[in-house]
Amino acid sequence: MAEPKEEPKLRMVCEECGSTDVMRDAWAVWDIETQDWVLGAVFDYGHCDRCGRETNIEESLL
Ligand SMILES: [Zn+2]
Repeated sequence: MAEPKEEPKLRMVCEECGSTDVMRDAWAVWDIETQDWVLGAVFDYGHCDRCGRETNIEESLL
């Protein structure tokens, strides 16, 4: 059997300070089946907790 190939993992970091304490603006939609909010749409607005303000979020390989 072929070994499953692992996808390289990414992390999202703040462009300004490199912190991973970053968030994106998003919508959650209610899922009746799971009785929980699930991610609907993700927007471009990024926020860094360390900088305490809007930032650009960059992808970085682990
Ligand atoms: Zn930052």
